[in-house]
Amino acid sequence: MEFIDLKSQYHASRSAIDQRIHAVLEHGQYIMGPEVAELEQRLARFSGARECITVASGTEALIIALMALGIGAGDEVITTPFSFIATAEAIVLVGATPVFVDIDPTTCNIDPFLIEAKITARTRAIMPVSLFGQPADMEEINAIASRHRLAVIEDAAQSFGATYRGKRSCNLSTIGCTSFFPSKPLGCYGDGGAIFTSDADLAQAMREIRVHGQSRRYVHTRIGVGGRMDTLQCAVVLAKLDLFEWELEQRTRLAARYDALLSGRLGLVGRRPDRHSAFAQYTVIVDQRERMQAELLTAGIPTAVHYPVPIHKQPAYAHLAADPCPMACALAEKVMSVPMGPYMTADAVDGVAFALLRSAQAELPGEPADAIC
Ligand SMILES: *Cc1c(COP(=O)(O)O)cnc(C)c1O
Repeated sequence: MEFIDLKSQYHASRSAIDQRIHAVLEHGQYIMGPEVAELEQRLARFSGARECITVASGTEALIIALMALGIGAGDEVITTPFSFIATAEAIVLVGATPVFVDIDPTTCNIDPFLIEAKITARTRAIMPVSLFGQPADMEEINAIASRHRLAVIEDAAQSFGATYRGKRSCNLSTIGCTSFFPSKPLGCYGDGGAIFTSDADLAQAMREIRVHGQSRRYVHTRIGVGGRMDTLQCAVVLAKLDLFEWELEQRTRLAARYDALLSGRLGLVGRRPDRHSAFAQYTVIVDQRERMQAELLTAGIPTAVHYPVPIHKQPAYAHLAADPCPMACALAEKVMSVPMGPYMTADAVDGVAFALLRSAQAELPGEPADAIC
């Protein structure tokens, strides 16, 4: 069993993907070819946002969004420590300071009730992450942001396709950023990402920043980056988009099957009824993670940990001397993601669930893991 089965997905869309790739090879417009605009239109329509700008990666999406908002040295951006490193890294790369707010231990997303206490005169934006595919508490976050005139950038790298109160993730705040890294819910075959907004001025700024701040050929109106998504990767996403809604339904069905077998017997990351996860990950909460991972692996079941160390405890971020985030620290020791993907069979889900329950029951009284925080 694979943790994320990309091969079955390729085979399900093979002729469409092959045709799309060959069309690019034939027309030869490898940079900013027609597939780029076509994908941006289709993704904008899918998300409900007015504008979509494809970019080189999810990380680049976050950097470009921050740059377009004019965020830099001396500014603070509030975010979660329980995410992939890129969330905080983007903030640091533009010269700003990440300010970490602890998570809600139920959902593992940023706790909106702890945000306001961290707002200072330097705060410019809030960057929540829709972790594991489930949108963060965007309405509460947007309300705080509008009271304090802050921008909200949703790091939706894991949640493309998710919904929140009837709207799509990426269209829930000032700017939404996603990633097409191969293992994300909508992946390409390399690096790629996209930015969403309904603000025309921000969209224009982000289009320019993506291409070295260029407003017309060789007229560089602002400082930018080399941040384009290449035509071949856009072609792959276009081909995969046709099956995406079906894939989301499939993920939902398999997650419900995991839920039915595990809930009440094993700790699960909580989900809220007003939103629908894209299930980038299916994550359980266990006490003896290392032992369980080893036992599952022996049974042929790969697992992964997202994330073993909260960002504020990473060596490169220690100098920020962030306030303690006890929930993020506690969950970092206990979360374990299990195989999930639209091409998994129901039998495979049952097999993983039973192996999990068997392993959890064998709980040993042994030593607790070394504390990270
Ligand atoms: C994957 C990911 C990113 C970065 O995306 P890349 O396309 O790999 O640059 C950023 N934030 C989160 C939460 C992610 O999961």
